[in-house]
Amino acid sequence: MNFPREPKIQISEIFGPTIQGEGVLIGLPTVFVRTGGCDYRCVWCDSLHAVDSQYRAKWKRMTAKQIWQQISALSNDKPLVVSLSGGNPATQPLTGLIDMGHQCGYSFALETQGSVSRDWFSSLDFLVLSPKPPSSKMETNWEQLETCFKVAGLRPEIVLKVVVFDDSDYQYAKEVTERFPSIPIYLQPGNYMAPAGDEEDAPLDQSGLNEKMRWLVDKVLKDNWFDARVLPQLHVILWGNKRGV
Ligand code: SF4
Repeated sequence: MNFPREPKIQISEIFGPTIQGEGVLIGLPTVFVRTGGCDYRCVWCDSLHAVDSQYRAKWKRMTAKQIWQQISALSNDKPLVVSLSGGNPATQPLTGLIDMGHQCGYSFALETQGSVSRDWFSSLDFLVLSPKPPSSKMETNWEQLETCFKVAGLRPEIVLKVVVFDDSDYQYAKEVTERFPSIPIYLQPGNYMAPAGDEEDAPLDQSGLNEKMRWLVDKVLKDNWFDARVLPQLHVILWGNKRGV
């Protein structure tokens, strides 16, 4: 008798626990599962090692069980939040992993740009939809983004997160919130400087970043946009742009 093959998940890295540095779960101890491969190519992508096919040879094809074993070992079998990030983790078959984790009391948060929707979004505990603003040079498919909300249904807590580099990104964030007014929105100042080489961490201009944060806070307050939350990336404040922390 032939059994169906277990689907393989493309993994760039698994690390943690460390604290979640962004958005709704900021500060919570988290294990990160970063999948490999993305349908976008944002010009300021800070995770190219999980996006570009030139890094494919370093990615691993793993079963849900293999990934789960690593998560349990990293967290000493103590339930915590698992963040599924990428790349675009929505392009991977993650149902089995989420089911295994739920059986042991773990929670799952997915962060995706909202370009691909999956039925298994409805099994998540948190869904962070992070549509990409004009500075990314990507086009938002609004219909597809809306489908992500629909398929997720009522179980996950859903939030929006928009990275803001400039005025047009800010206007875009306002458009996002006008389209989805009941969804909490998190704004994050853009942080990107091209690294010197493939294996290098991106450099950090902390004072420039602080200035951008103040600029963004100022704009939000002047606009009376009182239900927006403006947050820096906590891990960048603590460790700069170092990967895997
Ligand atoms: Fe990078 Fe995210 Fe853009 Fe994909 S969607 S290219 S992972 S920033």
